[in-house]
Amino acid sequence: MESVLLGPAEIRAQAARLGIRPTKTLGQNFLHDGNTIRRIVRSARLLPAERVLEIGPGLGSLTLGLLEAGHPVTAVEIDPVLASALPGSVAARMPQAELEVVTGDALRLAGLPGPAPTALVANLPYNVAVPVVLHLLETVPSLARGLVMVQAEVADRLVAGPGSRTYGVPSVKVAWYAAAERAGAVPPSVFWPAPNVDSGLVRLTRREPPATTASRAEVFAVVDAAFAQRRKTLRAALAGWAGSPAASEEALVAAGVDPRARGETLDVAGYARLARHRPDPHR
Ligand code: SAM
Repeated sequence: MESVLLGPAEIRAQAARLGIRPTKTLGQNFLHDGNTIRRIVRSARLLPAERVLEIGPGLGSLTLGLLEAGHPVTAVEIDPVLASALPGSVAARMPQAELEVVTGDALRLAGLPGPAPTALVANLPYNVAVPVVLHLLETVPSLARGLVMVQAEVADRLVAGPGSRTYGVPSVKVAWYAAAERAGAVPPSVFWPAPNVDSGLVRLTRREPPATTASRAEVFAVVDAAFAQRRKTLRAALAGWAGSPAASEEALVAAGVDPRARGETLDVAGYARLARHRPDPHR
């Protein structure tokens, strides 16, 4: 059977036809390897026929892989030339495909047309990958799972746990929403143009945030403060957040956290607990 997926020659021809010259600013590296595309779709562990949200469909490489596997797709693309060409080029290969294309910035997404997608699958634009993942987990509550391809280094950061060298703000904030795990590596050769970094797959599984009376914004504020000076003890790093070093020590002790510990040792549940103990400046 002839494949519906786009190979290297088709990717180049399609880009030439549309006058697309891939830009770094928009992270435009298009997949042209059927095996990788099918591996991404398999690794996402999607439920049969569940609707997928794809960010940055580009020329439709991954979109066709998702549609081929029987998933309706809602795709959000910032580049108006790519977005307007997508429905036609997909219909030419898969006339029955259920595809909804939204032209816009995934970072400004506020609501989606049509049925709510329950999974996120995307080869993300690398320079905005972390904010896009966080924004979607926050604003699209129907998303129960996801598989994203990002720069390998960012994949390490997203899945890192406390105590690891790569553990930081993205690790804690993603952990607020979801469990994250590495789901494989992808070499530069499967893209056109080939990026100058390795890529990694990250699987996300939504879970309940840690129990706390603090809001998400309050928890994220203490996370930002702790990692802004990651070499310092939490007592020192959180002095500004608490009002003074003494107030910071008091809050840490009340939350059951050693004031001499560093931010990189505390998990998301610890930050959630700590956020509740921020001193009230008006007291
Ligand atoms: N999914 C395609 C593939 O795998 O071949 C293209 C992936 S390419 C790495 C990233 C895509 O995201 C590009 O099509 C780019 O135009 C688009 N993009 C970049 N920034 C975006 C944003 N803020 N919102 C939505 N799409 C964006």
